[in-house]
Amino acid sequence: MIKNLDLYLYNTVTKKKDKFIPKNHQNITMYVCGPTVYDRPHIGNIRSAVIYDVLYRLLSFIYPKVTYVRNITDIDDKIINIVKTSGKNIIELTEQMANFYEEDTSEVQCLQPTVSPKATTHLNEMFEMINKLIVLGHAYVAEGHVLFSVETYKEYGFLSRRHIDEMIAGARIEVAPFKKHPGDFILWKPAPEDEYQYCFASPWGRGRPGWHIECSAMSTKHLGEDFDIHGGGVDLVFPHHENEVAQAICANKGSRFAKTWVHNGFLTVNGEKMSKSLNNFILLRDLIDKGISGPVIRYFYLMTHYRKPIDFNDNAIHTANKALNKLGAMIEPLVKEYNYDLQACDTAIIDMLNSDKVKNIYDSIDILCNDINTPSFLTGLFTPKPLENLAMLCTLIGFKPSILYSHFQHEIDPYIIELANKREAMKSVKDWISADSIRDEITAQGYEIMDQKGSGFKLNKKK
Ligand SMILES: [Zn+2]
Repeated sequence: MIKNLDLYLYNTVTKKKDKFIPKNHQNITMYVCGPTVYDRPHIGNIRSAVIYDVLYRLLSFIYPKVTYVRNITDIDDKIINIVKTSGKNIIELTEQMANFYEEDTSEVQCLQPTVSPKATTHLNEMFEMINKLIVLGHAYVAEGHVLFSVETYKEYGFLSRRHIDEMIAGARIEVAPFKKHPGDFILWKPAPEDEYQYCFASPWGRGRPGWHIECSAMSTKHLGEDFDIHGGGVDLVFPHHENEVAQAICANKGSRFAKTWVHNGFLTVNGEKMSKSLNNFILLRDLIDKGISGPVIRYFYLMTHYRKPIDFNDNAIHTANKALNKLGAMIEPLVKEYNYDLQACDTAIIDMLNSDKVKNIYDSIDILCNDINTPSFLTGLFTPKPLENLAMLCTLIGFKPSILYSHFQHEIDPYIIELANKREAMKSVKDWISADSIRDEITAQGYEIMDQKGSGFKLNKKK
């Protein structure tokens, strides 16, 4: 049954919040650009995963079925460079990184997409699309490359609102001599001899696909020529999404590709852009290893509206942790009603979400339906309401009662972990007085610290 809720999403194409009207109410189709699997995901990658997970959950709540496709780019220059320098096996590397991506997104309570297609298993679909583009005069072969000809597509630039002429003026980098227009982009790239073994045979010689054609081909294969939602980070609008849509519309005459384009904002760390040179690159795994739980990190992401930039810092994590603990404390009496059987409690709440009782929380869900306004939605959780309603709302955005309660039971405040690390440092320089005073503070905050044999410590929350 389709629920009577109006969803509004900010559409990059129209530059306003549009009422979401699906192509087929029985099956919502959504494509999101997934990871290039050369490294473990950082906290910027995970932000995107969490945002589209919330949208996926919301759509699945309103509509009977959602087909959510998130691709895996497993052939790319960065991957090839790593393999060339490290001597790693390309399949082993990409499979391991894809597994890490799944593991890390699960830590932050993301459901896995319906399909996670890999680029390397969709080469035939790419060949077919490239071939169509050549036949229709939208692409040409030059020096082993196949290029998309931007001048053959009048609407080129409609998504990012750039004009072709601006791109010429803006092209400071040297343009390859075989390009007819500086804005022409690669559909197929020939392999240099030392990369032969990582590349693929094609009608245009051995090489590898351009990144943009991967997404056009995989989305069309799994969702059809026209689908409802395309998502990704705001940094992908140009050139990646502009090129994706150009290829697909030109290859499939009469199609408009994705109807709604959703883009999430970027992430900074302590006010600065994350970069290897600033040495402030944070992997999700780093945070989990430090003892910051996945649900806290998820909550942190949702405190900021998805289109706004978000800043990662200790204070924000501290706030998220406190809020999640508070929800855990609020939910405890409900868990008690189920004799602390967490699974039974979760199941009961899911059943309620599928029953008439859900109508009691429509006002709150409306907030979420307003362009996924998670900050207002989270604030609303703390206003007085029946516990069942609270539990349903939390479950809807990925915090089941079991998650909230376990967090409340076991979570160590990151501030306490910081104190414990400081105490370790004091111990190592034999400053016993400072070490003891920190221990007293940790105890006063309701925790117990136990030294491990050799070095290290174990923290427990006192009941
Ligand atoms: Zn993509």
